[in-house]
Order: sequence, then structure tokens, then C-alpha cells
Amino acid sequence: PRPRPVWPRVLLKISGEALMGDQGFGLHPPTVERIAREVKKAHDLGIEICLVIGGGNIFRGLQGSAQGMERASADYMGMLATVMNALGMQSALEGMGVFTRVISAIPMDQICEPYIRRRAIRHLEKGRVCIFAAGTGNPYFTTDTAATLRAMEMNCDVLMKGTQVDGVYDSDPRTNPDAKRFDRITYDEVLTRNLKIMDASAIALARDNNLPLMVFSLHQPGGFAEVLSGRGRFTIVE
Ligand code: UDP
Repeated sequence: PRPRPVWPRVLLKISGEALMGDQGFGLHPPTVERIAREVKKAHDLGIEICLVIGGGNIFRGLQGSAQGMERASADYMGMLATVMNALGMQSALEGMGVFTRVISAIPMDQICEPYIRRRAIRHLEKGRVCIFAAGTGNPYFTTDTAATLRAMEMNCDVLMKGTQVDGVYDSDPRTNPDAKRFDRITYDEVLTRNLKIMDASAIALARDNNLPLMVFSLHQPGGFAEVLSGRGRFTIVE
């Protein structure tokens, strides 16, 4: 039999910006496909996978409200942006033969499934990738918080955060060559040093519920599957 994966059920959080490629805005289908291929490699190992994708490549509530929109309306627009990203990812994954469900916190039955916790768990057990859309369904939250919440509701072993770099650093390694990298760090250290992995409420929620967090690079081909097999480079926050 195949060796059991170290992390049998995971939630991968990616920001909307990871999907925009060099365009600087929106969805870049070849980039979406590249990330979908990463997800497929992990799925092929028999790992149960949840996805939460942000919406920052299309619309951010805070930006809208800074420009005079009502904050709640702007946030709903941000949530709708995540639905578009989820559909883009669904299309890429299904094109590779991976079965998926897009599951929205805000019901929109013609487009995707509404969120029903036990039904989502059943999808995972059947090997379908669950793509959670519309964040938490509430304004004033972020998709980082949504990712943490869904990871706990789905009993995930770990929350994976795919980023531009191979772990957590004390400053941005792309601008500071002396940046120090951590193999392991505590939630409290992330909060007190104000390290920008995820927003503070998401980190605190993960801490209070002992949900381990792994930060790794989305740019290393096969990196997601490697990290899940216990190899590869990542920082673990616990
Ligand atoms: N959003 C929200 N509630 C949620 C999740 C998201 O109101 O539970 C809105 C919020 O306006 C946010 C936008 O959706 O700016 C896009 O999500 P986010 O900024 O988290 O995306 P990312 O930075 O990960 O691309």
C-alpha cells in the first residue's frame, strides 16, 4: 500500500493575487492552470484538499470603502470576486480530471453549492476538491479568516499558506538579503513581530484552536505535494 501522507486532509489558502500572473490584475488562465497542476499532484497522493482563494486580484473591500463606498457593500463585492476566482480554479482542475465542488458561504445555487458543513466533508471523503468561496459570508472579515474557519470545520490537519517565498522571514527576503528565515515559529511570535503571513485575527483563531499553519512557496514546481509528504521547504507555525 501507498505510505499514508503526513497530512491526510489539508486546506490550501492562496491569495487572489497568486492568480493574476504578470498581468497585475484579474485572472491569468495559464497561471491558474499552473497552480491547479500543483493541487492535482497533491490530490494524486490521496490527500483530501480544501481550497480558499482570496479576491484581491479583482476587488478589495477596504480599497472600495477608502474611495467612498459603503464598507459592507464593498466587502460583498470582494466576496463576489472570490467566487469568480473559485470558478476559474474549478474549471482548471476539472480540465485535468480532478473532481471539484465550489461551495459558497453566500448561496447562489445556479453557480455553485451552498455551504453545508457535513455535505462538504462528504465531498472530501469522496476525493473531491472543495473550493470554498465568498469567504465567511460576512463583511469585515477576510479570506484568511475564512480559510482558518473552514480548515477547522473540515477537521483539516493543517492550514497551508502558499506564498511568493519558501517560508516565514523576519523581513521581506526579496528586498532584504539579510532577512532571517524561520523553520519553526510560534503564533505569538508571528503576532508580536507583526509578520505578515495572514491577518492577525486569522493567526489568533488558528492559535486558539491549535491549527498548525505551514507557509511554503507556490513557485517551486511540485512544492505543494513535497511539503505535504514531509519534505520540501516550509515554515511551520504552531
Ligand atoms: N471579504 C469579506 N468577508 C470575508 C472574506 C472576504 O468581506 O469573509 C471581502 C473583503 O472585502 C476582502 C475581499 O473580500 O477585501 C477579498 O478577500 P481578501 O482581501 O481576503 O483576498 P486576498 O487578499 O487573499 O486576495
